[in-house]
Amino acid sequence: MSVLVVGSVALDTIKTPLGQCRRVLGGSATYSSVSASFFSPVNLVAVVGADFPKVHINLLQKKGINLEGLEIKKNGKTFSWEGEYSWDFSDPKTIATHLNVFSQFDPKIPKEYKNSEFLFLANIDPQIQAEVLKQINEPKLVVCDTMNYWIESSRSQLVKLLKDIDVFLLNESEARQLSGETVIVKAARAIAKMGPKKIIIKKGEHGSILFSNKSVFSVPAYLLESIFDPTGAGDTFAGGFIGYLAKNKKVNENTIRRAIVYGSIMATFAVEDFSLGRLGNITPDDIKARYEKFKALTCF
Ligand code: AMP
Repeated sequence: MSVLVVGSVALDTIKTPLGQCRRVLGGSATYSSVSASFFSPVNLVAVVGADFPKVHINLLQKKGINLEGLEIKKNGKTFSWEGEYSWDFSDPKTIATHLNVFSQFDPKIPKEYKNSEFLFLANIDPQIQAEVLKQINEPKLVVCDTMNYWIESSRSQLVKLLKDIDVFLLNESEARQLSGETVIVKAARAIAKMGPKKIIIKKGEHGSILFSNKSVFSVPAYLLESIFDPTGAGDTFAGGFIGYLAKNKKVNENTIRRAIVYGSIMATFAVEDFSLGRLGNITPDDIKARYEKFKALTCF
């Protein structure tokens, strides 16, 4: 089964205590598509400007990502984000967000994608996420991500969208921001009332927790020896999560739990270098090796 991904394709400028980079390939849809592509075919819907380097298109194509839904606006500039991390590598400080071509993006889903069963609404304006969802006939699984920027600027659109979401992903601070609750269990309960059937709260280097009406499932994070740049970890998690489910076609408690483990493993590759430096160069054997180590770490 293929996965349909909509979200940002970006040029990121990032500063961490370990280094900095300017206008490198980034974006929620970029990281999640590349991650998902290790498990299943991926169709991407997004927009970039005339300044988007051809080498980035080549990389996405090399990963087998279908770019029929990637619009290139001749008179526009690519979305760009500038962020800075401190030593704890937790939430970045956003220095600048330039929506550029995304400020007027009216997504048109190619006819062949309209029957997509696995849909990932990666982090972007909830209005765009809703427009895409409206054009999909009967998705089997709709996974959605967001961030503080949209919770602050488009809260009502986001809350409206959540009614139609199967799995909602967000990190700890976003869960607190959206719910107004400080205790994570209470935050998840409050968000569940907004509509999503399942909520996954990502806790960075402390793993993630799945909340559903039946159960709570917690996984630790893989113990990485080096973290270089956390940008894209959440999106890469999401791509591995939905890619694994699409590959297996079945969505149930067992496959969802395993998908979270694969999502966690994929995220570890994203943080080992700037941009797609590491994630773009791994092999299925690298994923397998980390899966085995993860198993050993959590087995008792
Ligand atoms: P994360 O997985 O949360 O670290 O996401 C990082 C990616 O989100 C970066 O590559 C950015 O280009 C992208 N991003 C940052 N701000 C926004 C935004 N407001 N809307 C969509 N994508 C964003």
